[in-house]
Amino acid sequence: MIDPGSTYDLVLTGCTALRNNAGKDPRFEPNTTIAITDGQIVAIGPDGDTPPACAELVETAGLVAIPGLINCHTHAAMTLFRGVAEDVPVHSWFNKYVWPMEVNLTEEDVYLGTLLACAEMLASGVTSFADHYFYMDAAARAVEESGIRANLGWAFFSSMGSEGVAQSADFAQRLNGSANGRITTSLAPHAPYTVNDEDLELAAEHARRIGVRVHIHAAENLAQTESSVDSRGITPIEILRRTGILDAGTIIAHGCGITDPDVPVLARYGTSVGVAHCPKVYLKHALPPLTPIRALDAAGVAVGLGTDGVAGNNTLDILESMRLTAMTQKYVEEDATWMTTGHAINLATTQSAATFGLPNDIGALEVGRRADIALLDMSGAHCQPIHDVAAALVYSARAGDVVTVVSDGAVVLRDRKLLTVDVAAIRAELSGRLDRLIDISHGDQIQRYDP
Ligand SMILES: [Zn+2]
Repeated sequence: MIDPGSTYDLVLTGCTALRNNAGKDPRFEPNTTIAITDGQIVAIGPDGDTPPACAELVETAGLVAIPGLINCHTHAAMTLFRGVAEDVPVHSWFNKYVWPMEVNLTEEDVYLGTLLACAEMLASGVTSFADHYFYMDAAARAVEESGIRANLGWAFFSSMGSEGVAQSADFAQRLNGSANGRITTSLAPHAPYTVNDEDLELAAEHARRIGVRVHIHAAENLAQTESSVDSRGITPIEILRRTGILDAGTIIAHGCGITDPDVPVLARYGTSVGVAHCPKVYLKHALPPLTPIRALDAAGVAVGLGTDGVAGNNTLDILESMRLTAMTQKYVEEDATWMTTGHAINLATTQSAATFGLPNDIGALEVGRRADIALLDMSGAHCQPIHDVAAALVYSARAGDVVTVVSDGAVVLRDRKLLTVDVAAIRAELSGRLDRLIDISHGDQIQRYDP
């Protein structure tokens, strides 16, 4: 509860706060005060007659406060390739566009692309993202400057030789806990079809030694699973189990090709394994089926929300991922009672925090959690009137309704103005780089997609 005798760093008063989202029946408490000190929520409760003493007071009456949203799988710097590879199947998307274009990337490109991504995410209420890319020291610099939280993994293929896994491990060790703890890290093998078993075993060993997870694409679609079973007799999830990847703790990107026998295997690892579901890219690439959320849910396996990279998704909008998840789950299950608004909010908060690897630190407005908070103004015509806040959040709210964002206790977005990143300056800096970035006349590519 709020202590009127205490002096806090930052206090938010008057908001309607999301509570009880550990289950599928969250509630929204009006007239709530949230008190923050040292980047942590230290008190939350009903508004008093006067706000408690604090260094900074933000009046949030009329706003809905939710835990900062979490993007459980992306490649942030792919903002650089937004809208370049449209209306193509996934093999062309990789082989004709994305992997040839990624040959062109410089470290500075990745810094600028990641900074743009951080700006987009913070402005839409996303305060944490799990990133899987290259030149990750540059990505870390963007995270540090923007004030966002991230789990960063330096991606590698076995085609890079032994340096790939070594670089990923070196980065994970050096950067874990940096930016005042806002940066955590992962080992980041690309996928079981581009990284051999020896390198997967090495990655798992390094992850266990450093005390971080492995972030990997696996069972991205059913065709990949079938191809794995045809060529090796086992599923991609079984490869992760045998190579020790699951044992190390894992963010599994996509998992749309997870089979029924895979589900109890994943369940054995409890909250140290989560699946990042990025529905917009499955829809755009016309790649059924979706992640089997119903089976994973029944087995207690965490499912977090992600966007994947902007070259596929076009945005980094987690409100959109939540809405698409709710709608597509009802549609594929042919069950309008499945994936309730409360369940969708639980995926976007509690289960995403578990998938991200910080189940006790983010994903809830509770004492002891880091102060990552998004405040939405739902007074717009597209949300009004509000009979049910959960329904408004899942089905009506837009990223542009986010007006104020607190990340690790610092106000980074105020009245829709981003305080930490100059988007106009990034746009200007990028304009001279765009032709070079999308030039694929060199005929080279970083890897061949042939799962
Ligand atoms: Zn991905």
